[in-house]
Amino acid sequence: MQIKMSLDGIPSDRDKRRSIINSATGLLVHEIGHVVASAKQGFPSDLIIIPKDISAHEGMSYIDGKFKKIMEVNPSRHKSCLAGGFMAEHKIFFEPALHRSLSDILRMAKIDKKSIVCNADVKSYVEGFIDSQSDFFGIKDTINIKSIYRKIANFIRGNDKPIEGFYIIPMRIWFDNIHDKTDEDAIEALSRSNDENRWHDFVRQIKNKN
Ligand SMILES: [Zn+2]
Repeated sequence: MQIKMSLDGIPSDRDKRRSIINSATGLLVHEIGHVVASAKQGFPSDLIIIPKDISAHEGMSYIDGKFKKIMEVNPSRHKSCLAGGFMAEHKIFFEPALHRSLSDILRMAKIDKKSIVCNADVKSYVEGFIDSQSDFFGIKDTINIKSIYRKIANFIRGNDKPIEGFYIIPMRIWFDNIHDKTDEDAIEALSRSNDENRWHDFVRQIKNKN
């Protein structure tokens, strides 16, 4: 897996920067953005899950069910959590990766009852959001994003045994050093369920072990 060890020294050359945005580094920044934005809204995240092969699947971050229910009845807090991914990309790389954030953006637009039918709509919706939220991530948040990033990059580099091709990163990494999370039960849960609930099973198994 191509992953930078730190978010310092992002190249100013657009093509070089874009290749970083499209790599595991960019995906990780996106997911950490969700975690930090959600924490600011009072919603702790449990896990970040990122695939070893980033072309296979997007990453995910998980908020516990009881917080999720509170989040979903608070439109503005919910939108902030959803926007965290592309806002972190914007902060770190000076541009959002719209293809990666499409499902987040569509959910935000639905909350706003805005219709999005083409790429131009996506772009203008995101630009409008960024313009209206200049203080979305402050200096402290940027420091947090970079520090969480460094810890996770270190974890991934030192862990060549992803579970079924996924790195499961418990978010207490934010506070502690973490250990190898390879877990037989999680592998079993993942292989047992083929439907859309498989992620929920998977996460439940991981959470029960932590
Ligand atoms: Zn996202």
